[in-house]
Amino acid sequence: MLTIIKNGEIYNPEYIGKKDILLVNDRVYLIKENININENDLLVKIIDADGDYVVPGFIDSHVHITGGGGEGGFHTRTPEIKFSDLIYAGITTVIGCLGTDGITRSGEDLLAKTRALKEEGISAYMYTGSYGFPVKTITGEIKKDIILINEILGIGEVAISDHRSSQPDIFQLEKAAAEARVGGILANKAGIINVHVGDGERKLDFLEEILEKTEIPRKQFIPTHINRNIDLLEKGVDYALKGGLVDFTTSSSNDFYDNKKTKPSNSLKYYLEKGININNITFTSDGQGSLPEFNEEGEYVGLKVGKVSSLFKEVKDAVLKKEIDLDKALKVITENPARNLELKNKGKLNEGKDADLVILDNKDLKIKTVIAKGQIMLEDNKLKQKGTFE
Ligand code: ZN
Repeated sequence: MLTIIKNGEIYNPEYIGKKDILLVNDRVYLIKENININENDLLVKIIDADGDYVVPGFIDSHVHITGGGGEGGFHTRTPEIKFSDLIYAGITTVIGCLGTDGITRSGEDLLAKTRALKEEGISAYMYTGSYGFPVKTITGEIKKDIILINEILGIGEVAISDHRSSQPDIFQLEKAAAEARVGGILANKAGIINVHVGDGERKLDFLEEILEKTEIPRKQFIPTHINRNIDLLEKGVDYALKGGLVDFTTSSSNDFYDNKKTKPSNSLKYYLEKGININNITFTSDGQGSLPEFNEEGEYVGLKVGKVSSLFKEVKDAVLKKEIDLDKALKVITENPARNLELKNKGKLNEGKDADLVILDNKDLKIKTVIAKGQIMLEDNKLKQKGTFE
């Protein structure tokens, strides 16, 4: 299978000029000016990108792909994600996770959905565990899960500083982190700990304490929802300035919050002004999870489903509203998550990497075309591949 994308402005995510890209099967084979193969050859698919932006496929590294929630009773359990929702959002690599509910939802079910998405044509991985401690695994051991199950990259989302957490003591988190790290080392994987940080006063205290007294490196942890409130956002500044990774959640934001510092595109701008290296920042959607609202007493008042489309929307807002350069803004959903998760063939648009890419309209940054592992999923806004039951 040969595909040539002609005349695109290539962001890999750094800008490398106007070039053609030749895809052979599921890999990027060649990037240069004027690639010409006999165009009468019916085996070559030509896509004219004509000045549009060609960028790496997006990575969303925190999605409740089997559904989430249930925090308002059983009828509030959110449904599984549809394959096409990911495609329309430009997401060619997804990492699935469980959240509050580790009882009616299981790691086995999450693994099956992860494999289903792979079979449907995108790249998919998962974290083992859910909010609670001890971390509930598939094989009975964190290390074993990471070493023996290809799709498992680490543990998550384990919850701290939250009224919905299992109120772990610091040792539980420390031991789980150690296991994830060693499992990662043995399997040549990231072995990261994706940490859900809640609204509680303790914020990032557990992480700082563990980092101070153990040899576990700071980058082993990826704390998420750092933009959930101003105080946590401020704590995150210190944490990131010390070299820590921070993740902003995009689906909890909406247009009412345009001027709020906690809107991810605004948070990104703020962190860059604070001198934080953009390589330390990622966005994830928290898609398909429920977005519960609680009052001051911690009582549940309402619910909605998180959208994966929020992932790129916030990057777009960072570029169009906050004037962050496209090559920079793209990093938080391409190169950075690929580096953090050690997905060596992802996140960059270079020769030899996986043929995962998105073509964006050069006027309004609208997603036009999506290619995953060399397969055209969306072309000129038209869906070419659907999920099995869509
Ligand atoms: Zn969470």
